[in-house]
Amino acid sequence: MLNPLIDPFGRKIKYVRISVTDRCDLRCTYCMPEGFKDYREPDNWLKFDEIIRLTGILSQLGTQRIRLTGGEPLLRKNLPDLVAGIASQGIQDISLSTNATRLPRFAQALKQAGLKRVNISLDSLKRDRVEKICGRDVLPQVIAGIDAALEAGLGPVKLNMVVMPGTNDDEIEDMFNFCHDRGLVFRMIETMPMGHTAIEAGHVSLQPILENLKKNHGLIPTIVEMGGGPARYWQTPDGKGQVGVITPISEHFCETCNRVRLAVDGTIYLCLGQEEKIEMRDLLRAHADDETIIAALRQGIHLKPERHEFKESPEKIVRFMSQTGG
Ligand code: SAM
Ligand code: SF4
Repeated sequence: MLNPLIDPFGRKIKYVRISVTDRCDLRCTYCMPEGFKDYREPDNWLKFDEIIRLTGILSQLGTQRIRLTGGEPLLRKNLPDLVAGIASQGIQDISLSTNATRLPRFAQALKQAGLKRVNISLDSLKRDRVEKICGRDVLPQVIAGIDAALEAGLGPVKLNMVVMPGTNDDEIEDMFNFCHDRGLVFRMIETMPMGHTAIEAGHVSLQPILENLKKNHGLIPTIVEMGGGPARYWQTPDGKGQVGVITPISEHFCETCNRVRLAVDGTIYLCLGQEEKIEMRDLLRAHADDETIIAALRQGIHLKPERHEFKESPEKIVRFMSQTGG
């Protein structure tokens, strides 16, 4: 093990989110608006062997967790091969963020390849609302995907709901009960201002919503660590109902940020809401040796900003979420 990758604020990088595509079969209003066509050319996409090599190097520098994301990662061909390759680099905790439409087809193969767990996006339990939010009538497919994940043992399965005012904020209790009944961890997310439609989707502070859930269900804070991310968790007294909140706006968590994001074109973004980045593709394509790649990572990590400014400057749009890898 080499000296860890540490940013100028003393934060160790232990978690890397890897976007394997910027394409998606859905068009969630807050992420990838209808008509969005700014796709990068597949020639520029990192190949699996390039991603696997980079994860091996990052693992030597202290990365313990990898999450595959996108766009919709299950649109990338042969994704289980990438999971197996990353697992071969000594990364134990490999997870996936997905809209679940293709999970019925891939859940078992992903599990066999070494995937540990999945996060699934679902913003409503009303079929017409799901269609309105994400542009396609996919609620039955998503529910089949959730069932496939549970059956394959890809747990704990976390269900991510972006809570939007006047769109789905009346469904909190229904979502809580749906997750409780199926043994899913229910996570609510505040909309981040990444693109004009995300701003139009609006933002609700999750603090009062959480207070209501605590009161209605007697929730108590969860002590066990639940994935090393920014969510804070509560649970029902019997431990069967679990709730997490991700509050980038009302209470940001940048001081504990331990992550970077590798986009599909080989750019490492150092913060969701800022421009600073490290370009890796040319080095990988030039077959640079490990020392050169490590030096680029160590030099680049010095650019990691202290925090995002979503609250102070919501109009400062850096990228759509689907471009960075959420
Ligand atoms: N397609 C996969 C999915 O939907 O889970 C993975 C990529 S998606 C960008 C990852 C997560 O980012 C999803 O949970 C999605 O709801 C969330 N997300 C996208 N845009 C967002 C925004 N503007 N604010 C907050 N969360 C957002
Ligand atoms: Fe696609 Fe996920 Fe973005 Fe929705 S949130 S458009 S499913 S990438």
